[in-house]
Amino acid sequence: MRTLTELRDHIGDCHRCPLGETRTCLVFGVGREDADVMIIGEAPGRNEDLRGEPFVGAAGTLLDELLASIGLERDEVYIANILKCRPPGNRDPQAGEIETCTPFLREQVALVAPRVIVTLGNFATRFVLRTDAAITRLRGTVQHAGRFEVLPVFHPAAALYDRTKRDVLFDDFRLLGDLLAAGPDGPAPEPVQTALFGGEGEER
Ligand code: SF4
Repeated sequence: MRTLTELRDHIGDCHRCPLGETRTCLVFGVGREDADVMIIGEAPGRNEDLRGEPFVGAAGTLLDELLASIGLERDEVYIANILKCRPPGNRDPQAGEIETCTPFLREQVALVAPRVIVTLGNFATRFVLRTDAAITRLRGTVQHAGRFEVLPVFHPAAALYDRTKRDVLFDDFRLLGDLLAAGPDGPAPEPVQTALFGGEGEER
């Protein structure tokens, strides 16, 4: 696939997993096609399922505030999810759904080719870093996945009614701002995790 538009056309009216039967809208992803920052969430919720856009509810408003706190607008980053269709009742993504849907996400990452990937919550973090470690342990630490710097943070939905997590999220976005300000030639953080995207022996 050479462009995100081609990828979206390829996905089409997807029914490759059972979520195709229950969704309203497929939520592909939005944002700048050559963004330095790619944000990866879990799956569409009710509002996203109705609108076909990621992060349009209260969690989306908080995400916009987090981006604004480091001088970024939503259209300067690229936002996508592990799953492109809403799990019924907002249940957790299932392993088979993740396995079937994530090749599309991998294509998106390869096409956008961001410098930094911000993973929101456990599912995105565990997928990108191939780890079983909890977000509570990894959040706010700069990891590596292949050529990408990865910053795991809490999912904004988990921070909506939790003041402590909300404060931690703003702290972690400040770290993202520092990372971007340091530039690609800034001090390299120690790689901790193994590669998922663009790693050794992996084609991108
Ligand atoms: S979740 Fe992914 S694989 Fe499943 S139907 Fe939606 S787009 Fe297709």
